[in-house]
Parts: sequence; structure tokens; C-alpha cells
Amino acid sequence: MELPFAENYKIKMIEPIWRSTREQRETWIQEAKYNLFRLKSEQVYIDLLTDSGTGAMSDRQWAALMTGDESYAGSSSFIRLKETVQSIFGFEYFLPTHQGRAAENVLFSVLIKSGDTVPGNSHFDTTKGHIEFRKAKAVDCTIDEAFDPDNLHPFKGNVDLNKLEQVLATTPGDQVPAIIMTLTCNTAGGQPVSMQNLREVRALADRFGVPVIFDSARFAENAWFIRQREPGYQGKTIREIVAEMYSLADGMTMSSKKDGLVNIGGFLAMRHKDWYDRASIFNIMYEGFLTYGGMAGRDMNALAVGLEEVVEEEYLRARISQVGYWGNKLIAAGIPVQKPIGGHAVFVDAKRFLPLVPKEEFVAQALAVELYLEAGVRGVEVGTLLADRDPETRQNRFPKLEFLRLAIPRRCYTNNHLDVVAAALQNVYERRMHIRKGFRILNEAPVMRHFTIELEKVEL
Ligand SMILES: *Cc1c(COP(=O)(O)O)cnc(C)c1O
Repeated sequence: MELPFAENYKIKMIEPIWRSTREQRETWIQEAKYNLFRLKSEQVYIDLLTDSGTGAMSDRQWAALMTGDESYAGSSSFIRLKETVQSIFGFEYFLPTHQGRAAENVLFSVLIKSGDTVPGNSHFDTTKGHIEFRKAKAVDCTIDEAFDPDNLHPFKGNVDLNKLEQVLATTPGDQVPAIIMTLTCNTAGGQPVSMQNLREVRALADRFGVPVIFDSARFAENAWFIRQREPGYQGKTIREIVAEMYSLADGMTMSSKKDGLVNIGGFLAMRHKDWYDRASIFNIMYEGFLTYGGMAGRDMNALAVGLEEVVEEEYLRARISQVGYWGNKLIAAGIPVQKPIGGHAVFVDAKRFLPLVPKEEFVAQALAVELYLEAGVRGVEVGTLLADRDPETRQNRFPKLEFLRLAIPRRCYTNNHLDVVAAALQNVYERRMHIRKGFRILNEAPVMRHFTIELEKVEL
């Protein structure tokens, strides 16, 4: 018999979590204006809001915290982290930041100006936010297969080269500062990009003289899928695959809260000295001095260890197997989800799950609230609220797909926790024909509204 997978660790420390009653949750979610970001964490039983900064560190990382060097300048923790980044990604120039969006802010301050166009696969919300904040435009060139949840394409994060070429050919060269490839593609369902696609994007970029940046939050998960699914990579190590991926980029932004296996932090790294020189000025202004950039020395130490751990094959096997185990369980129960199951989350197809809720009433948010009421499980809407308004027309943008994203923190929950969520989802699914109402907006911010938005129930 083939042995089942198991975690490549055992548990050394625990943190209690609490169940609640449906009555309590009804009060709490109403007080939170039906925005799950506004809930207190103790009002949540199983928290699948995000895999960002919510994972567990290893004993080696906790040990590394103790030996952090808190010197303002020239910290040995900085040098350790810089050397780790160089050895994994191959970039000569490196700047730490307090998290991923800060790396975007620093790099985009150098690269992007008003009127620019930034193509790529579906941009992450903060990436798009930082582009649009500069009055530039993010153009999504993801392959059409990504928008069909039942299509089993192995690399649904890929860019459609025709769409990309169209953008590059019709935009003046000095108005395309970069192509941004998000690995894995979060918005499309944690879906990977193939090495071949990265190679082809690079070739196209070279033809038009445009640099390529990798938004790298889940780079190791992407490399794992290349190893599993792309011909020719089965015999390679994760480190070899990552090195080959990054040989195709000019630079990277990183949210260390994901595949850095730490709770906070980020960085940017690049090949070009002129980018680095200009980015250094913004790093000092927004983040901190070049050798800490918003991170404590101990945090840089823990990140250096985390980056070493995340490219371990046994770690990735346990991680991706857990997400896959659970996603396939939902599929077997008939729950409509984005297939194949991605790297860090399961994306439930809310429009198919709740066919009676109109899209104008935020169907994925309606599902998120129902699941919370059912079992105290917190997921997140990846739909119309997240897509925000068009910056010019101020109309709501209705994306092709409305997802409830259930993200799985790294090394945090057991399969038992996930089984509870699966049962809760099935209960909601059974009463889906009785759920007909969604929400309307009471208050919203001009950018990235989903974090703070206030909603009220639509009454029939
Ligand atoms: C999380 C994330 C970011 C932003 O990083 P933060 O650390 O949350 O600021 C950028 N891109 C992608 C793909 C992400 O998942």
C-alpha cells in the first residue's frame, strides 16, 4: 500500500482557539458591518482569511530570533539574509522592506509613472493598487483557461502571449515600465506559471525591450508545481528550479509573510545597479536604512532560515498535499471550486454555489458571511468588492469569477480543522436555494475598499 503523506514536523507549542454559538456570530458579524476584516480574531474559530503572516515558525527560526543583530547599520543579520537571497534567487542587489507592498511601493516609485501600462498575469490587489495609485494601468493578460473553473489546465497562472504581445505592440515603449508575473497567481486561484511560459514572456519582453519583474510571494509553491507537472523538471531540485525561474527576471518583489515562512517582512531584489541606486533613496525614505528597511535584525534572521526551509522538498510535499487533500475532498462533495486545486488556498466558485444571489449584491461576500455564521470559519471575498471600482468611470467592476477564498496558513491547522470547514461548507451548500439575498454598500474607501468597507443586508 502506498503510504499517505504526513507533515514533515511535529508540534512543539500550541495556541488555543475557541468555538462560538450561532447567536454570538450573528451579533458579531452585524457589528462588523458584514465585513470579515472587521471581526476580532477571537470571534473566529478557524481562520482561513489569509495565508499571509499567519503561519507557524520552526524551532530553528525561533532560535535564529535570539541571535539577531540589531545594529542600525551593517547588521550581520542583514548580511546573512542578503546572502541567502543571492544564493536562492541569484540577484546581486537586495533591499529589505517591512512587507511585500512596501517592496512594490519602493520599486514602483523608481519604475512607474502616470499614464504607464503594466501588463502581467492577474495582478495582486496591492500590486494593482500601487499601479493605479500612480495613475498607471494594470492589464490582465492571463490565459482564458484560468477563468473556467472546470478547465484542468496545469498552469492556469500563465500569460496569454498573444494578449501580452498585443499590449506591447500597441503601447509606446516608454509607457511600459515592466511586465509583472505573479508566482503563483493568487487572484487566479493560487495557480502556477510554467517555466516555458516564463521563458516565452522573457523572449517577448526582450523583443520589446521591457523588463520583467516577478511578484514572488509563493515562488516555492510555484516551483513545486513545475517539478510535479512540467516535463523535464522531475529530476531537478526545488532550488535548481527556482534558480532557473529567476534567471528569467530583472527583479523581484517579495512578501515574506507567505513563502518567507515568517509573520512579517518583505524585500526587493534586482539585477540592475541603476534600479538599486534609485530604489535605495525611496527605501531610506519609506522603510528604513538599507541594512534593515523596516525589519528587526532578529526578523531578518528568521526570514533567512525560513527561505532555506521553504525550498525543502519535504516541506513543500506536506504543504501542497494538505491543500490538495482538502480541495479534492470538497470536489468529491460536489462543491464548485477552481480546479485544479492551487498552492495555498481553495477558491470556491460563489456564483455557482449561490445561484440565486445577484452579482450586484456581492455574491462571494454573501457566501463568506454564510460560512462564518455556519461554523465561525473566516474566508475572504475575491470578487466584486476586491475588484473595486474602475478608476475612471467609478463603476463597480464585475470580475468574470466570484470566489470565496479559503487560504490555508502554513504549518498551522491540521486536517481535522479542515474537515470541520468542509462539513460547514457542505451544510451551507445544502441550503443554498434558500439564500437569495446579498449586501449593499454603506461606506467605502477610494482605494482597496474591501479592507474597511461597511455593508448592510439587502432585504427582499
Ligand atoms: C501578499 C501579496 C503581496 C503583498 O504583500 P504584503 O506582505 O501583504 O504587503 C503582493 N503580491 C502577492 C502575490 C501577494 O500574495
